[in-house]
Amino acid sequence: MPRAVVVGASLAGLRAAEGLRRGGHDGPLTIVGAERHRPYDRPPLSKQVLTGKVEPEATALHEAGELEAEWVLGTEATNLDTDKRVILLAGGEELPYDQLVIATGARPRMLRGFEPGPGVHYLRTIDDAIRLRDELSEASSLAVIGAGFIGLEVAASASQRGLDVTVLEALPIPLDRAIGETMGSQLADLHRRRGIDLRTDVIVEGRVGNGRIEGLRLSGGEIVPADAVVVGIGVAPETSWLEDSNVDLNDGVLCDERLRVLSGGRPLPGVVAAGDVARWPHPGWSRLARVEHWTNAVEQGEAAARTLLEGGAAPAFAPVPYFWSDQFGLKIQFVGETVPGDEVALIEGSFEEERFLVAYGRAGRLVAALGIRRPARVMAMQRLIGERAPFPPEPG
Ligand code: FAD
Ligand code: NAP
Repeated sequence: MPRAVVVGASLAGLRAAEGLRRGGHDGPLTIVGAERHRPYDRPPLSKQVLTGKVEPEATALHEAGELEAEWVLGTEATNLDTDKRVILLAGGEELPYDQLVIATGARPRMLRGFEPGPGVHYLRTIDDAIRLRDELSEASSLAVIGAGFIGLEVAASASQRGLDVTVLEALPIPLDRAIGETMGSQLADLHRRRGIDLRTDVIVEGRVGNGRIEGLRLSGGEIVPADAVVVGIGVAPETSWLEDSNVDLNDGVLCDERLRVLSGGRPLPGVVAAGDVARWPHPGWSRLARVEHWTNAVEQGEAAARTLLEGGAAPAFAPVPYFWSDQFGLKIQFVGETVPGDEVALIEGSFEEERFLVAYGRAGRLVAALGIRRPARVMAMQRLIGERAPFPPEPG
């Protein structure tokens, strides 16, 4: 009976493990995770966990069906030998595999001079979220470095708790890579209307305070006072444990269109990757894709399991990506992908009402859509993008 191993007790890893069992894998199944927790959901960590609406334990992900897995938690995989087909674990143990899913996600980029400690936070894990939640309950002001997803969601949650919040972003427009300039500007306005001091084109030079943080020093010399700081300047795919392996790495684990992991450009037998760590040639895109969102981790975990079970008969992984972000009680939903230069058109509603649907077009085709309080229409756009519908789409 083949032995399957999942490295990363993560969302993608869990969905892959479930997919293997559902698809008939009845041999041994081992899940290795560096954290001491079983898989949990990260989205509530920057939202309901920080506002106090959800207890951290409630983020646990439930296993669908009987997984019958062996869990090796609190243990990092430190290397992979694809010739011998073994994974090396932190304690020195060797774990053999016949089939392997790499689902080690991503870790926050660190800002020099801002090592995590009293008053200085990064947010990736449940333990990070508990520490931040507890500190927000003592603080009256928060500075956030980076107006990405973490930055904007934490800013909204902290503001809802009554803190004074300043957001400092190096770029002229927040989130422009993910949702484009037009909508990045709209989102910035949405925050400013609610009292967030969101500043762009700013460089943070250092911290103020001996020991405990008291504020930030900006490049012009200005001091922004703050009782606590959250740094959210992006993530790097977690591939450090593979650096001495023969797996192809380049901003993630390189895969083919069926998520088979490559070595010297050729698929390694029985090895797949999924989630934030996986970079693959999406059949509809002109560049390699790596997606850092929840739905992709779910769908890619399932697809990777299918490839292990069906080999070349499994379909190429070609989703129309979807993500959402909750800020100030508004659900922002996005489907597709956008690149600089795409056209943007308001299809329905108005920005003032904070209820609208916007479509993105390239070369006469619909490529993406963003909606606030328009959930059914966003889902309709996802279908139209998959059908390569013309741009602009008809109003609903
Ligand atoms: P991860 O969730 O990163 O998990 C990887 C796991 O692998 C980790 O537990 C890690 O410890 C473990 N690991 C790493 N290296 C090793 C090793 N060498 N050995 C063993 N284990 C290892 N997306 C949305 O679409 N909408 C949202 O609203 C949203 N909110 C988010 C809020 C927060 C605070 C965060 C952090 C993310 C959010 N996301 C959201 C993104 C989404 O959660 C991620 O895309 C998703 O978690 C990726 O899942 P993954 O399985 O690839 O990896
Ligand atoms: P992110 O969304 O990539 O945003 C990071 C932002 O910080 C970018 O705008 C970045 O600009 C900026 N930045 C980089 N260096 C900076 C500096 N020195 N000073 C000020 N700003 C700086 O990453 P994130 O917000 O840290 O989120 C981490 C991960 O969690 C991502 O994978 C994200 O997708 C995921 N997440 C997703 C959601 C969601 O989908 N709703 C919610 C939370 C978290 P550049 O673009 O120029 O680098």
